Amino acid sequence: MTRPSPAAELNGVQCGHICDRCNRGIRTGDKALVYATYYDADGWVIRRVMCDCGSRTIGLPTDGADEVIVEAVYWRGRLVGVKTVDRSRP
Ligand SMILES: [Zn+2]
Repeated sequence: MTRPSPAAELNGVQCGHICDRCNRGIRTGDKALVYATYYDADGWVIRRVMCDCGSRTIGLPTDGADEVIVEAVYWRGRLVGVKTVDRSRP
């Protein structure tokens, strides 16, 4: 089974605007870093939204999950211009 590209799948998705790491507000036009996971039943799901303070690499792997860090621009409640910066599986 082919998984959809996280960058394509998360583009335009709604997300929160408070950094999950430092609690700073992310404003429209700011860069956001997003950690998301993929489980077959759910597809790509956003787990954490961070401002520039966030990590660009996945830390310890989570069992059974395909994990990704994407960089995006936060735009009026959505992610745009999403690019994959790290992924646990090729
Ligand atoms: Zn932050």
